[in-house]
Amino acid sequence: MPMISGENFGIVVHGGAGVMSTLTQDQQDAIKLKVSETLMSSYKILKNGGSSLDAVEFAVSEFEDSPLFNAGKGSVYTSNETQEMDASIMFGLDRSSGAVASVKIIKNPIRLARKVLEETNHIFLVGDGAESFAKNIGVDVVEPNYFYSEKNLKRLRKVKNKLTNNYAIQDKIGTVGAVAIDKDGNISAATSTGGMTNKMPGRVGDSPIIGSGTWAQNGVCGVSSTGHGEFFIKYQVAREVCSRMEYLNQTLEHSSKNVIEELKKIGATGGLIAIDKDANISTPFNTAGMVRGSITNKIDLSVEIY
Ligand code: ASP
Repeated sequence: MPMISGENFGIVVHGGAGVMSTLTQDQQDAIKLKVSETLMSSYKILKNGGSSLDAVEFAVSEFEDSPLFNAGKGSVYTSNETQEMDASIMFGLDRSSGAVASVKIIKNPIRLARKVLEETNHIFLVGDGAESFAKNIGVDVVEPNYFYSEKNLKRLRKVKNKLTNNYAIQDKIGTVGAVAIDKDGNISAATSTGGMTNKMPGRVGDSPIIGSGTWAQNGVCGVSSTGHGEFFIKYQVAREVCSRMEYLNQTLEHSSKNVIEELKKIGATGGLIAIDKDANISTPFNTAGMVRGSITNKIDLSVEIY
């Protein structure tokens, strides 16, 4: 696929979709501050001529290091009170992709996903194999107690008491993602998550699945999804948004909004962030809130939750 050089560049990020009813004002402020700072630093990478792949990896790794999001440090618990993380990254020039799932000791799963993309002939590594690869290649590993969170354990017990795995009514903290286009017109997307609270051990959601949680295609669009993963896999959400643009000539706004509305009709809750080849941005969601923010050379920084 030819490289498409555009004058427009920018980045959009998300910090998960959901109910978020219990977020205090202080928590909302802390989330907004973290998202703003991360966006400013990622934008600088792009402004200085850096690659979209570097910008999205950087943004997602910043969120993974924060306890405010359900990824890396803030990952939620499985029904066995363990934490298992999934992540993926994709480069739209040639569709090169890297993904990891069910990793328990990787400080930044998105960095490991990038290594899978760049250093292996594979796309997707899981569990022990992914962790051995991390050790061999020098990606940071940590003790499982690095991820310990009393808040997230309480969240698990609350969900267990409600006897439901229904994403729509879970009190949530969010999966994270970033999508960017750089000055060379290359689109990249990245997504990272601890999955869903009370998931079965070994369960893998949409976030590390190329085409479901993450998609990047130069000349068309890039997408990172968040929501009830099982539905996002069935409907191949990230790729679907770009396919409608490619085959039906729809705009980014039209395509992404329709996909999220259609998901709502079948009871699938969530949202997505997307960017097109002209650095237009769309952030539809069908939940009460979705942490999201963006900045491009055409639009000022904005960060919102509801
Ligand atoms: N999509 C994630 C999963 O199903 C969860 C989320 O985005 O909140 O693992």
